[in-house]
Amino acid sequence: MNSCDDIRDLLSLAAAGALDPDADERVSRHAHDCAACAAELDNWQLLARGLRRLPTPQPAAGVVERARARAELAFGEEAEQRWNRNVLAFLIAFAWTLTVLSWPIVRILSGGFASWFTTRLTPTWYAFAGLTALGWVAGGIAAMVLAWHQRRERRLA
Ligand SMILES: [Zn+2]
Repeated sequence: MNSCDDIRDLLSLAAAGALDPDADERVSRHAHDCAACAAELDNWQLLARGLRRLPTPQPAAGVVERARARAELAFGEEAEQRWNRNVLAFLIAFAWTLTVLSWPIVRILSGGFASWFTTRLTPTWYAFAGLTALGWVAGGIAAMVLAWHQRRERRLA
């Protein structure tokens, strides 16, 4: 026979529906014969029903929204930085391609193939170097303007 002490330990679990069928049956049988335990089981069941009726805790209003906005902002900044890097990489590659492609042309124009390997600094060489530097500076400015423009558009949006 189950003592009241043994059963009392199980009453809260029985009310919550957390007992295995054997133990549940034992509690039911004991509560059928024992008014004290039956009363306590009633109380536990009342409490369990009350707890089930309580609304599931929800995050305070706006917290989820703010977190999502922050995540989107961070993601947007990351995308912008990636885009800026891509633009810069493209401009650098473009400048290098331009430099490499235009070098032989300038050399041919300035003195033919024979002078390719000379280190003589002709006025044409200076002009070429100046144009190349100008191209790089223009590319850098273009990259900065593009980045600034994009950031402003994002802020206005
Ligand atoms: Zn009892």
